[in-house]
Parts: sequence; structure tokens; C-alpha cells
Amino acid sequence: MPLLVVGSVALDSVHTPHDTREDVLGGSAVFFSYAASFFSSVRLSGVVGEDWPPEHTRFLQSRRIDTSGLHVVPGGKTFRWRGKYLPNMNDRETLEVHLNVLGDVDPVLPDDFKRCPYVFLANGAPQSQLKSLDQVIGPRLVVADTMDLWIREAHEDLMKLFRRVDGLVMNDSEAKLLTGDENLVRAGQRIREMGPKFVVIKKGEHGAMFFSQYETYVLPAFPTEQVVDPTGAGDSFAGGMMGYLAERGDFEPQSLKKAMAYGILVASFTVEDFSLERLKGITREDLEFRLQQYQRMLSF
Ligand code: AMP
Repeated sequence: MPLLVVGSVALDSVHTPHDTREDVLGGSAVFFSYAASFFSSVRLSGVVGEDWPPEHTRFLQSRRIDTSGLHVVPGGKTFRWRGKYLPNMNDRETLEVHLNVLGDVDPVLPDDFKRCPYVFLANGAPQSQLKSLDQVIGPRLVVADTMDLWIREAHEDLMKLFRRVDGLVMNDSEAKLLTGDENLVRAGQRIREMGPKFVVIKKGEHGAMFFSQYETYVLPAFPTEQVVDPTGAGDSFAGGMMGYLAERGDFEPQSLKKAMAYGILVASFTVEDFSLERLKGITREDLEFRLQQYQRMLSF
């Protein structure tokens, strides 16, 4: 089933303790789309400026990603993000954010994007996420991501958004910030009481936690020695998860758990190189192989 994503499309500059990359392909909607395209066709909605290299669009089109919702703003500049990882490769500092066209233009969905049954609202201003959601007709499953900036600065809009989504994904530090609770189990349940039917809390190198009315569980990250650049891990996690749900066409508890596992596995590949370099080199078979290893690791 088609899957719609609305989110940032970016040129990222990344500094790790070992290496640096300037203006590489990034953005929440880009990592999400590529990860989801292992499982399902994807419709990507976002905005870029005139400086956007057209080869990036062609690259995305070479997968099952429909880029007809990617608007090039005449005279505009593409969103840019610059981040620096600390030696533990888990914590990062944002050095620069230039919203550029992302701050000025809200995406308008092409008509054939409006009836997508599966919808992911990647990290963005809640008001703009709501505007995108308003354009979708009769979705079956809506999941959103958010971040500390919006928790601090747009709390009221965020609460409106929470009441309109089925699922929510966020980082552990954001869940603590939102609830003021250091205990993630309590924090996850409290966020679920704010509206969404399920909540996923991402814990970076420690995996992810799931909360619904019926169950609470945690899945560990897939252990990988080679962490080159964690940028996009969270968005790839969401892409793998939503891509699998769209492929299955249901979101029963067992499907959700397997979707979480796929999300974790796609993310484990993302971190093994900069930008989308590692994901470019793998196939669905590589994911299935890692899934078998993961299942063996978890059985006792
Ligand atoms: P992740 O590592 O999964 O949290 O996602 C990193 C991606 O998010 C990068 O490719 C950035 O371009 C993008 N990003 C960073 N800050 C923002 C923001 N304020 N709004 C939207 N996207 C962002």
C-alpha cells in the first residue's frame, strides 16, 4: 500500500571524531523514504531550493520513491543542517541550522498523494505537520515524529497533533523533556495518554521501546562495531517500520513488533557510513539475513 512522507529534504554537513562530509544528501524525509523503499512504494513531499542538485532527485527516483511532491522553490535555498558527534558517537551537537525554504513554504500535496492510506509526518513544526495532515483524505494509519525544539516552543500545536495521530516516535531525551519524567516506562505511557494509540521511544544504540494500551516492550539495537555516522538512524528506523507496515497492509500487534525489528535493522545499516552510502549498497536480502541473525540473538 502506498506510503506518504512529509518532511525535511536537506543538505547535511557532518563532523565525526574521524571524518567530515560537507553538503551531503540528508533530511528526515530522505532517510525515511529510502529506508521504506525496501518494503513499499513511497510518495515523498517536501521543499528544496534552486541549489538542490537534480541528481539527488534522480537517485531517489531510481528507487520506488515518487518525487512529484518535491517542490523546487524558485530563487530559494535548500534546508541545511550541520552537526557534530561527540566521541561516544551517540550524542551530537547541532552546529548550524539554516531553515531556508523549509521555514517559508508549506508543502502542497499533489492530488494523487492525498489518498495515501499510510502517512508519516517526519520531524517538522507541528503546525506544518497538521497542515499536511489536513490535506490527506481518509488515512488508515498516521504516525508522526517530533523533537525538542517543538516540545519547547510549540507545545499547544504539538498536543493538537498528538490527538490526531495513531502513533508517535520520538527520542528518549525528548520523551523525558515532554513528561518531566526520567523513567522511560512511565514517560511512554504518559505520552500515550496524550492521544496516540501507540508510542515508540528510540534509544539510539540501545534500541527502541514500544507502548500501547495492551503491551510495553523493548527491542535492542542490532550490535554493530562499525558506527561511522549515526545521522538519519531515527528516520531510517521510522522508514523501515512504516515501510513494512505498508507492505503488510495491517498494524496488528505482531506486525507492529516485526515492523519495529525491521526499523532497527535498517537503522543498523544506516550508521555504517555517511548519508545514504551504506543503504545504497544493500538489498532486501541483506535485511532478511540480518533479521535471521537478530532473531537468533534474541531467542533463548
Ligand atoms: P536523525 O539523525 O534521524 O535524527 O535525523 C537527522 C536528519 O534530520 C538530518 O538529515 C537533518 O537534515 C534533519 N534535521 C535536523 N534538524 C532538523 C529540523 N529542525 N527539522 C527538520 N529536519 C531536521
